[in-house]
Amino acid sequence: AFDTLMIGGGPAGASAAIYAARKGISTGIASERFGGQVVDTLGIENFISVSKTEGPKLVTALEEHVKDYDVDVMNLQRAVKLTPAEAEGGLHEVTFESGATLQSKTLVLATGARWREMNVPGEAEYRNKGVAYCPHCDGPLFKGKHVAVIGGGNSGVEAAIDLAGIVGHVTLFEFMGEMRADAVLQNKLKSLTNVDIVLNAQTTEVTGDGSRVNGLNYKDRTNDENHHVALDGIFVQIGLVPNTEWLKDSPLELSPHGEIITDAKGMTSSPGIFAAGDVTTVPFKQIIIAMGEGANAALGAFDFIIRN
Ligand code: FAD
Repeated sequence: AFDTLMIGGGPAGASAAIYAARKGISTGIASERFGGQVVDTLGIENFISVSKTEGPKLVTALEEHVKDYDVDVMNLQRAVKLTPAEAEGGLHEVTFESGATLQSKTLVLATGARWREMNVPGEAEYRNKGVAYCPHCDGPLFKGKHVAVIGGGNSGVEAAIDLAGIVGHVTLFEFMGEMRADAVLQNKLKSLTNVDIVLNAQTTEVTGDGSRVNGLNYKDRTNDENHHVALDGIFVQIGLVPNTEWLKDSPLELSPHGEIITDAKGMTSSPGIFAAGDVTTVPFKQIIIAMGEGANAALGAFDFIIRN
């Protein structure tokens, strides 16, 4: 059995593994795909102290840093079940799709999240070619251009306000007859001169010229008329889905959105089980934050071990 086992090999899990291994405790990291969302990221310009890098490059650096330590790295392992220790200080067990099981005194759950997709033709084809999901990350790539934001919830309206300060023009598309965002955000959005809002709009297709996005098609749900809008970019803001489906039958406390609830040391509602990064209720989902949270959870796990 491990002293501490990370489930998930994104920035949070990798950071937790390094912090744990540096304490001299036996450490493992099991993940479906080492690197997580960073593998799919093109440019990264907000990883502090590195002016500009690319996702796959950062993942290689992460992997090498982990390899500097005595960490048992297990890739292509999808966790399907969590069985917490029966008594505090006992061993927790994780079952994988392969049928294998691993036991550990402490766990750091760092299975991350994924953007909710529109699932319309063209979206997958033009991902990273004009279709974007993270305004903090990709907004500056559209300086002076015309972009759309899909979704009128808090994240969509915040994204539109944020982007309006960078890009030339923002058109926000909301499926329903009104936006769901907080009134204060809606008022701020409506006060901006380079923003249009289209309500009752069902996006039906992302269009492009074969190499980049050039617009989108939507149906006006009030009269079923189809329209085309020319655009340089589309920010999809219809929610982030935490990868916690595998925890549904566990006693772990989750938020209404399915995120793992943690305390100040990263511990979940089950003693000895910690969580970090995008899979938790941490409000901002970013690489640097996930790494900080991973370090915090690993130190929390070490603290738990020396007290039990
Ligand atoms: P993830 O990166 O999601 O990693 C989760 C890990 O868990 C992966 O290893 C995954 O394979 C594994 N996993 C999931 N389910 C299971 C399971 N059941 N069993 C085993 N393993 C599992 N942030 C920035 O700071 N700057 C940027 O420029 C930036 N650009 C982005 C661009 C894109 C396209 C995307 C999608 C995200 C971007 N982000 C950016 C956000 C950033 O990538 C995330 O905040 C960060 O990766 C979160 O790290 P994490 O370790 O919590 O989760």
